[in-house]
Amino acid sequence: MSDARTPKAVLTADGVEFGYRRDEPVLRAVNLTAREKQLLCVLGPNGSGKTTLLRCLLGQLAPSAGEVLLNDVPVSAYRPRDLARSLGYVPQFPKSAFGFTAKQIVLMGRLAHTGPLGLAGDNDRQVVRLAMEMTDTSGLAERTLDELSGGEAQRVMIARALAQQPAAMLLDEPTSHLDVRHQMTIYRMMSRLAHDWGMAVVCVSHDVNLAARFADQLLLVKDGAVHAAGTPAEVVRPEILSQAYDVDIELIDSADGPIVRAR
Ligand code: ADP
Repeated sequence: MSDARTPKAVLTADGVEFGYRRDEPVLRAVNLTAREKQLLCVLGPNGSGKTTLLRCLLGQLAPSAGEVLLNDVPVSAYRPRDLARSLGYVPQFPKSAFGFTAKQIVLMGRLAHTGPLGLAGDNDRQVVRLAMEMTDTSGLAERTLDELSGGEAQRVMIARALAQQPAAMLLDEPTSHLDVRHQMTIYRMMSRLAHDWGMAVVCVSHDVNLAARFADQLLLVKDGAVHAAGTPAEVVRPEILSQAYDVDIELIDSADGPIVRAR
């Protein structure tokens, strides 16, 4: 049910089905709603279909049934350039950008906005500056990607996606190679993008505890189907997680909320 207090739906998956091979479904009737001002974390065991779902949301894969809507319009109906403006994507491994400086990489986020010659104007430079401030990467501007740590490189990739000024940001396990302090930094940043900048943020996550602590909504996927969806309080329950991950899970109280632990 939506009411006046429910933030607007930006990106929705409606009964999405997908398989890489005929007769081998990877996603089964998946429903998802990413709303502005909310961080939605997609959780689930390895191989459950999280990345495939993200690629359907991005319009990179076409569902065999159901549809993905961006602001009520099917993503398949968007021109690639318009889709690139609206959906910011942060891949798991930043690749193919190693020779470029951080500032050049963030400026690439403006490509969908600049003219056919890709000439950056004052507004583009201003947006790049803000995106780098927001992600605390201004001090890294002149360093090339291969001169940065994993956490710094990931922040630069977030700045690049931010420079697109998208309506929704999609991140694929953005913290999988980071230590716990840098993981916290990225989750805090995603939360600020949603709450302070008003974006719909969707993050595939392998860390139930961080997702539960920072997300507004969780979507738990198992075997390509939605196993549970709702607020962290609704989803982070021992019986739900134990079934989804096939391990015995207990919750331990802490000052930051319950901590999930496998028994
Ligand atoms: P997750 O992100 O949850 O680990 P994925 O979406 O990557 O899961 O994978 C879901 C299933 O789809 C797995 O069984 C995986 O082997 C399969 N799969 C993923 N990518 C491809 C691909 N490009 N071609 C064929 N099968 C794939």
